[in-house]
Amino acid sequence: MKVLKFGGSSVANSENITKVLDIVAKTSKETKVAVVVSAFGKTTDKLLAGANEALMDITIAKEILEAIKSLHFQIIEDLIFTNKKAVSEEITAMFNRLQSIYEGVFLLQELSDKTLAKVSSFGERFSSFIIANAAKELFDAIHGESRDLIITNNDYLSGQVNFKLTNKNINSFFDKNKHQVVVLGGFISANLEGETTTLGRGGSDYSASIYAADLNADELQIWTDVSGMYTANPRVVKQAYPISEISYEEAMELSHFGAKVLYPPTIQPALRKEIPIRIKNTFDPENLGTLISKNPKKGTDVKGISHIENISLITLEGGGMIGIPGFSKRLFETLSQQKINVVFITQASSEHSICVGVYENDAPKAKLLLDETFSIEIDRKKIKPIIVENELAIIAVVGESMKNHQGLSGQMFSALGRNNVNVRAIAQGSSEKNISAVINKYDAEKALNTLHEQFFEEKTKQLNLFVTGVGNVGERFLAQLHQQKKFLKENLKLKIRVIGISNSRKMVFDTTGINLKNWKELLENGEPTTLDTFYEKVKKSNHINSVFIDNTANQQVSEVYEKYLRQSISVVTCNKIACASSFENYKNLKRISRKYNASFLFETNVGAGLPIIDTLKNLINSGDRVHKIQAVLSGSLNFVFNNFNEDSTFHDVVGQAQKEGFTEPDPKIDLSGVDVARKILILARESGYQLELEDIANSSFLPEESLQTTTNKDFYASLIKYENHFQDIYKEADVKDCRLKYVAEFSNGKANVGLQHIASDHPFYNLEGSDNIVLFFTDRYPENPMLIKGAGAGADVTASGIFADVIRIANQ
Ligand code: ADP
Ligand code: ASP
Ligand code: MG
Repeated sequence: MKVLKFGGSSVANSENITKVLDIVAKTSKETKVAVVVSAFGKTTDKLLAGANEALMDITIAKEILEAIKSLHFQIIEDLIFTNKKAVSEEITAMFNRLQSIYEGVFLLQELSDKTLAKVSSFGERFSSFIIANAAKELFDAIHGESRDLIITNNDYLSGQVNFKLTNKNINSFFDKNKHQVVVLGGFISANLEGETTTLGRGGSDYSASIYAADLNADELQIWTDVSGMYTANPRVVKQAYPISEISYEEAMELSHFGAKVLYPPTIQPALRKEIPIRIKNTFDPENLGTLISKNPKKGTDVKGISHIENISLITLEGGGMIGIPGFSKRLFETLSQQKINVVFITQASSEHSICVGVYENDAPKAKLLLDETFSIEIDRKKIKPIIVENELAIIAVVGESMKNHQGLSGQMFSALGRNNVNVRAIAQGSSEKNISAVINKYDAEKALNTLHEQFFEEKTKQLNLFVTGVGNVGERFLAQLHQQKKFLKENLKLKIRVIGISNSRKMVFDTTGINLKNWKELLENGEPTTLDTFYEKVKKSNHINSVFIDNTANQQVSEVYEKYLRQSISVVTCNKIACASSFENYKNLKRISRKYNASFLFETNVGAGLPIIDTLKNLINSGDRVHKIQAVLSGSLNFVFNNFNEDSTFHDVVGQAQKEGFTEPDPKIDLSGVDVARKILILARESGYQLELEDIANSSFLPEESLQTTTNKDFYASLIKYENHFQDIYKEADVKDCRLKYVAEFSNGKANVGLQHIASDHPFYNLEGSDNIVLFFTDRYPENPMLIKGAGAGADVTASGIFADVIRIANQ
């Protein structure tokens, strides 16, 4: 025997009920089935709304009733054929009775709990009768009347079950029953006098559990609109996922603290008989859902997080309580006598106050009652009048094995603290199955998501960046980072924070991450800095996974890398000076980087964002050997010679290149060929050759006078003066139908750079704009070289190269 319960949304319309009947038909082929159904969709809400409306306006109440009726008749129309007439007559008669009740409410202007129970019971009475008859069309089924079987006390709206009698009734009914399937209404019951009572809102789950226990079912299945009990309410936490297995106690805690998918009392009857409960999705029946059992397979320490909104805290406080027993007894007695549910209890160890959480709509009544109970003590000023705080929520972190792990509550509260969620009260059950906290209800969603991220989401890797240099490249880098933040977090599980930014004058630090929307303003208002002050501050901040990023072209900055690396802080740089300095220094930085387990990456030193160095590294690491490199490596020179001709002037074209960000801050470094020489030097070194900058033959096309200038102004002046010289260079190539390219070559351990005439059949001839090209001739690519080509200069591509290095560090 199995008991299958289908909730409101599972039976909201004919289409859904068809799915339900499929599921029941399948199960009934293997075993007898008791089907417990809720009212169709939101019928209970509507019935109650109609009853409340009947107190004021009977016409509106009847309109509500008509809407309910039309849904029910639509379902009869769609699903019942042979018995349609009889079923329709029975349902019509029931609607007539319901209408009379509404009219009675209107006339008497009275709506008691007894009437509310009667009204709301119609939902399940309709639904179970209609579904039973629809089932009869398809398989061997019968309708059972829960009000004849489940007996409660006179608490009409949340009846306390008389288990002895109920058990007897259920067993004698099922003993006589010969049908394979019995369809019963959930939620509804009766008292000893036979008056209708209900088991409380959401109570169909409970009915099903009572049937399952009394029938010693093999399994209780709760079919709903989600695929199980989730790690948190899936409507509030998008990342929540179904828990595959959970214990009865854990499920009980989660449902007690708001996991609506299971009505809290449901667990008890099933637990008593150790009947496994499976929560399944009617709309995804293949999904295994959640198994609730005595010995679930081991999962995470924290099983789920739940929350209840609309909570009030009631505090009983005063020096007069100390050492005198009985205050809490009187408090709880008063509340329980009036059926006020206490959701949460905490007592300060000083015994100076007791604090309980109740539902917000019970709070005014609770205050009134408690002020009355303690009136003598309050009058004598032994205790203060009851304090009520509203608009609160409770969040609870649940898991049985939490007790085996220290530090979980620390994690919980520090995560909440980091996210600025103020905790008003805390309780930890002595069983340590849950830790719960009272917070402002407006923080509930943030708190749930924070805790879910803390305990369930794949651990994100955090990278902490310290950025020096916010010129063209630095600015673009920060903009790209800002734009990609969300993507990196969601797709690469990577959280990148910029903690420090500096330029040559100022610095700004924020250990929680600088807001990249307005970093300029923050930096402008930052503290004065030097390279040393910045370094000291980075060192002191002592973050994990720190990366120092140099976006400058500055010699002094390149000299501090070693200090960072020695602190295990990685270095990413587009500044070529370090790698093109003495071979000794280059090797030393690499050695320190290995020793301190910090990356030293400089992909942007050659070809901006093009993956040249990385590719070269991969070749070498996989055992290839480089024989020859031919390359056009200066985006700036390429731009200059692609745009310079008889109609333009050389200095104008150079000025334009600088304006567009294609040159170093000092354009002479590009024009003199020094920049290209540094690049080929770095490539040769990365290929495994020991070379110095002086070893690279550089035949500059600049006049000696231009080379000797010391300021940009003088440099440009010299370009104007030697315009004819540049025009001659152009014409010399042009008459041969050649283009001018500044070519870098490395072969047989030697390197040279210089301007060359490139004929139209050469791969360099069609190099556009500021593009770079590199040809690697290696053991594996001896004749047809490996070729990398693309934009090799510009702030955006350089910034993206820096970005790529940062991601490489993250992926290590
Ligand atoms: P039914 O009508 O089938 O009884 P309910 O609406 O009572 O369904 O319960 C299912 C709903 O419970 C889900 O749609 C979801 O919004 C809500 N819910 C809250 N917390 C959880 C949780 N931890 N896991 C699954 N569902 C939850
Ligand atoms: N129909 C009832 C309610 O809406 C009981 C249930 O669906 O569990 O509360
Ligand atoms: Mg429910």
